[in-house]
Amino acid sequence: MAVLWLDDVSAGDLETVGGKAASLGELTGAGLPVPPGFVVTAGTYRTFIEEAGIDEELFAAMEIDPEDSAALKQAQETAHELILGTDLPDEVAEEIIDTYRTMGEDGEAFVAVRSSATAEDLPDASFAGQQETFLNVREEALIRRVKECWASLFSQRAIYYRQQKGFPHDEVDIAVVVQRMVDAEKSGVMFTSHPSTGEPQIIIEAAWGLGEAVVSGSVSPDNYVVDRETAAVDEVTVADKKVMMEKDLETGETVERDVPEDRREERVLSDAEIERLVELGRLVEDHYGDPQDVEWAIFEGDVYMLQSRPITTISDPAGVDDRDRTGDPAGEAASTPGSGATGATDGGDGNDEELLRGLGASPGIVSGAVRIVTKLDHLDQVADGDIIVTEMTMPDMVPAMKRADGIVTDEGGMTSHAAIVSRELGVPAVVGTGSATRTLEDGQIVTIDGDKGTIREGSAADRGVEEYEPVESVRPETPVKPMTATEVKVNVSIPEAAERAAATGADGVGLLRIEHMVLSLGKTPAKYIADNGEDAYVQELVDGIRGVAEEFYPRPVRARTLDAPTDEFRELEGGEDEPNEHNPMLGWRGVRRSLDKTDVFEKELRAFQELWGMGYDNLELMLPLVNDAEDVRRAKSIMRDVGIDVEKQRWGVMIETPASALSIEEMASEGIDFASFGTNDLTQYTLAVDRNNSNVADRFDELHPTVLELIADVIGTCRELGVDTSICGQAASKPDMVDFLVEEGITSISANIDAVRDVQHEVKRTEQKLVLDSVR
Ligand code: PEP
Ligand code: MG
Repeated sequence: MAVLWLDDVSAGDLETVGGKAASLGELTGAGLPVPPGFVVTAGTYRTFIEEAGIDEELFAAMEIDPEDSAALKQAQETAHELILGTDLPDEVAEEIIDTYRTMGEDGEAFVAVRSSATAEDLPDASFAGQQETFLNVREEALIRRVKECWASLFSQRAIYYRQQKGFPHDEVDIAVVVQRMVDAEKSGVMFTSHPSTGEPQIIIEAAWGLGEAVVSGSVSPDNYVVDRETAAVDEVTVADKKVMMEKDLETGETVERDVPEDRREERVLSDAEIERLVELGRLVEDHYGDPQDVEWAIFEGDVYMLQSRPITTISDPAGVDDRDRTGDPAGEAASTPGSGATGATDGGDGNDEELLRGLGASPGIVSGAVRIVTKLDHLDQVADGDIIVTEMTMPDMVPAMKRADGIVTDEGGMTSHAAIVSRELGVPAVVGTGSATRTLEDGQIVTIDGDKGTIREGSAADRGVEEYEPVESVRPETPVKPMTATEVKVNVSIPEAAERAAATGADGVGLLRIEHMVLSLGKTPAKYIADNGEDAYVQELVDGIRGVAEEFYPRPVRARTLDAPTDEFRELEGGEDEPNEHNPMLGWRGVRRSLDKTDVFEKELRAFQELWGMGYDNLELMLPLVNDAEDVRRAKSIMRDVGIDVEKQRWGVMIETPASALSIEEMASEGIDFASFGTNDLTQYTLAVDRNNSNVADRFDELHPTVLELIADVIGTCRELGVDTSICGQAASKPDMVDFLVEEGITSISANIDAVRDVQHEVKRTEQKLVLDSVR
């Protein structure tokens, strides 16, 4: 038997039918309304490769070094040729087609063809999203689609991922679900308990059309909060639903359409439909014994369940208490973003000797022994738990920064290397103290407060002040995220921080800086290429970006091409060839350097091209420090030269100079998909205030009305032109900026790791206020 009906499958059949089918079978068996379907079993795939005699060649082709991109690509191609190029035995193909024909009244049902890998839902090895799904398939394409699902077990991403997790390639099998399409008139998701508090509340999100729009986040859905016990609807938030996905009746393809004007702000669910959903929600939670996250659809008045998974996000208060942090509860600190240290940490302040003050650059309070690090010092002197005190941090200090408990610098502002990296590592930091390396003594015990920016004599314990780590690190490991229409993303500058960044539940990476990857090579790009060859350079970039793209897949990751100023390059081997600029901030950096030194730029573009080729379709490319449409045109032409399909791939620009803000309309006509505010630079160039100069730090005001005016104008123009807008500068973590941007209608906000949760709450609050204002 090549196939099994979903009615005959249950959770125990994971080995035979894979994770997805087992879960659909389980729901069907529990009497829940799942669209009918059958599974082409994992055994069918296994028998196919074995009997056709392609198995040995297939697995032999996987014996490669996964870090070698060319070999990885070759492995994928071989697997695809073998599987797609070999015919299925007639009797198997007939069984699949015959079973399919019994599904539709006229024998021509539209079906969804979905991969269901046997290792899909193993703990710690989520293969989800790696294999193919095809919608609206009919008889003539069915067999081919099934084989394409099989072949998708050997995408470059999947091969790489299995190597990394140590899964033998020949121990993962793949089944395929063939299930009747539900041409949903309405669809969405439902949480059978409150996803963050676990309270007996059912949360439903609903939009018009097929569920893809809600799941992918391209539409802001209506939100209903229902009491699970009484089924009373406590809260209804009707969103402006601009787009919907539906099946094109002629081609059968899924297309995005505008929602007709009169239905955009219409409430999606009737009370009766909510009642039915709540009934199903209770059933499914009772069946599994745990809160569930359900995808549902409504077609001709009937509610269908498309998928159900346990909610992994409910926080366990005991779990939080178990951690080693004391002090203020995370929840309270979370509600006041950027408000500085919490009340619990203030005790004893009055008696303490404040040694120094700087900018609180990475939150937390810690004590430790001062370790003064000058450029000549060996960084291995830094021991676990030390406080690094240095003039300014450099990329090669990162391993020591990881060991340290705290970081203090003489120089630098909130957007300096030290500030960015400390936040990503979750190490409290105070930057721009002016004189820490001279004022503090090696071995001296101090307490630093990374919120207030203070450095005090002695240990926290001596004074009864409680130490605490960055708020984010004591929150539940899995995301507890409020649902917002504005996407909340996260910035990543060191690939090592990817996992921590992904654990915030952010909707993607709004800025992946590649400077760190390049500077940490210890050589300028030119020198590295001269010594190691251009392939090695491309490979470094591929590896660094891939780690982040993989961690977040399928959430989008916006990587930026190189933007390092010449003074940073001068510190590296080969740096003697760099020009000595009087004012590197205004000098040869960002896209202007890329357009002059196209050979280095092309290598970066090649890395993007390779990653897209590997299947990282979540990767987006961003150009820094552009001034006008001419910069964009030139960059685009080089992108084309290296073979990038500029119509297909998503790419955009940063808005970091007043010139770029004023040129937005012309830049938009070059086909950019997005514009992202780099407020660190936009503020610097609008106000003529050096962002790294602590003497003028008090004048560095991202909320200055002129900066806000530039931003508002760009958002307005982009909304008219259908270009997405976002912010990835430091100001994205400030509540006032968040309120302003949400009100102006920005598409996404990308914050620092430690601020993501606060920004999610702030966005939610502002969105709710806007909805309320509009109905009052
Ligand atoms: C910015 O300028 O705001 C930005 C995000 O880029 P960077 O800080 O890397 O210059
Ligand atoms: Mg910038």
